[in-house]
Amino acid sequence: MSQRKKVLPVTELSDIPPNVFREAVAQADIAISITDAQANILYVNPAFEKVTGYAAGEAVGKNQSMLSARATPPAVYATLWQTISTGAPWTGRLINRRKDGSDYLADLLITPVRDAAGQVGSYLGIHRDVSGLHRLECQVNNQKALIESVVDSAPVAIALLDGEDCVVLDNHAYKKLMGDLGMVEPASVILDAVRAELGHGLGPAHDGRQAFADREIRIESEGRKGARWFSCTGTWVKSVGEGADTFFAHQDSIYLLLIAKEITQQRIQQEKARMAALQAMMSEENRISGLRESLSAALFQMEGPLNLLASVVAMQSRRGQNDPTLEALSEVLRTGNEALDSLRRVIPEPSGEAVTTTNLNEILRDVLDLSTGRLLAAGISVSWKPQTVLPSIHGYPIRLRAMFKALVDNALEAMNTKGWPHRELMVTTRSLLGSVEVQIEDSGPGIVPELHLKAFEPFFTTKNPHQHAGTGLAMAQQVAMDHGGSIEIDPAVSPGCRLRIVLPTRHGGE
Ligand code: FAD
Repeated sequence: MSQRKKVLPVTELSDIPPNVFREAVAQADIAISITDAQANILYVNPAFEKVTGYAAGEAVGKNQSMLSARATPPAVYATLWQTISTGAPWTGRLINRRKDGSDYLADLLITPVRDAAGQVGSYLGIHRDVSGLHRLECQVNNQKALIESVVDSAPVAIALLDGEDCVVLDNHAYKKLMGDLGMVEPASVILDAVRAELGHGLGPAHDGRQAFADREIRIESEGRKGARWFSCTGTWVKSVGEGADTFFAHQDSIYLLLIAKEITQQRIQQEKARMAALQAMMSEENRISGLRESLSAALFQMEGPLNLLASVVAMQSRRGQNDPTLEALSEVLRTGNEALDSLRRVIPEPSGEAVTTTNLNEILRDVLDLSTGRLLAAGISVSWKPQTVLPSIHGYPIRLRAMFKALVDNALEAMNTKGWPHRELMVTTRSLLGSVEVQIEDSGPGIVPELHLKAFEPFFTTKNPHQHAGTGLAMAQQVAMDHGGSIEIDPAVSPGCRLRIVLPTRHGGE
């Protein structure tokens, strides 16, 4: 049985036998050279011979400049020498030439070696051929530049968002859209709209899964430019973690690739056709509601005297008088009530409309578009200030459109009086907690505070009663109530008139 030699722990460098150092340098699989203070080669290891093609005998005694391919800028050598001559290490890349004349990219580390007196007496050079690595780096950079130029020239807005919805990459079209929106991040506007439409988050993020596809998003812009439409798609994409800690334990990050294609022109064409259909539908609705209003007004007017007649007949009957006038009055009352019943029967029923998800910005934009001709003719300027992304409500779009049309018509008529100087219609939307508020304000004469409540009574009108049935505000109040909302005349505004309509985004009556 052989006895094992005891290995003592090494604490001092001098404890390591010098031949171990020599062999370690000689056998290292990286090109090593040792030079004097002027870079004259004193030693090269076998790896140096392999990389450069020069045998040790050919290199020793020559200057390190023998490796120069004369293609490295002189400034690089100047920095190299400025650094190492002060005793500091230098690392960088140089173009070297092998003995066979081929060039390679050397990744070089030079370490100045101080002697016992602290003077730099020699240098240790360690280098490796990184031509292959450089080629790969170039390929990656070229591909990146190529992809960037393709993405940049794409006619759609593209943005890559991290887990916090922050844009980490975007293209020219996206940047341009951001400029158009007054430096508001388009991705936030689009995602807010998508989430508002979905009513929930984007769902679980899986690589390659579409979070949403072909969602048509309307982005409002203030002023005359009008709304813009985008068809938006969001796709989850995975990126492999780059940190050292992820080298063995892969940690992927998930990003959202957002692509927004502008479809405003297509939408404009569709809108034109829709507006024409809407115009036809609204004029039919107007005709029917006008008929309903006129018949209701007639009923209202007739009910008063007939009620009076009914009480006279009842009173005379109680007295037991057998008067031929009473018989005649009873006959008048009977035929009068029959006429009322006939009238009630012919009043057209309101259209049975289903509740749908409704965006009030779209409804108001329709109403303003429909009124453009009349507003222009009356010289009224319109200030349309919609909230860029407004939550939808559950409502009856036809009735809401009729309500806002009646309110806009009221405002228009209030200002369209001869000689009225200041003519401005302001329409604003904004979201409140759980509801949406619409303000319709005109710069007309306004309504005196005493009439703020009375104005909502049926058949009340401040205008010529022969031309106006006075049912617009009453109808508006009915529509607001049917949506679980409210309408009021803002007492703070005078002169002028501001109507505040608040409609809940969801209400129990649906
Ligand atoms: P210069 O840069 O002017 O060099 C000419 C020579 O003058 C130098 O080689 C050196 O002997 C001397 N010299 C210049 N400045 C100083 C100074 N401040 N102090 C002392 N002497 C100076 N170059 C390569 O191209 N490839 C290599 O792989 C490489 N490896 C090197 C390894 C070590 C350890 C050292 C110290 C230098 C190395 N060099 C290498 C640099 C090399 O010495 C030359 O500076 C370089 O090749 C450019 O040479 P040049 O003739 O164009 O001009």
